[in-house]
Amino acid sequence: MQPCHNCQAVIDEYILDKQLEPLRDLTVDDFNLCVDCTTIVEDACVECGGAVYEPRSESETPDYCPACRADLLSETGQDPGWVADTAST
Ligand SMILES: [Zn+2]
Ligand SMILES: [Zn+2]
Repeated sequence: MQPCHNCQAVIDEYILDKQLEPLRDLTVDDFNLCVDCTTIVEDACVECGGAVYEPRSESETPDYCPACRADLLSETGQDPGWVADTAST
């Protein structure tokens, strides 16, 4: 078992798995963060309407869930980041 990247607390995999459930594609193994350092925002993805994971370091709610971010990255070859670029429309 690995400690949390952010705060070094021991990760409770059971609780974290429950919290990650709306994200579907992600598991505890993708995170290395404890439940206290993980924020899930439901229905926030602009692409699929699914839940997004909000990095602690970001103050804004992300526009993309991790799955859509990965899709965009593989389609365009560019990482869109967590927030949609609305300036280019
Ligand atoms: Zn933590
Ligand atoms: Zn999505």
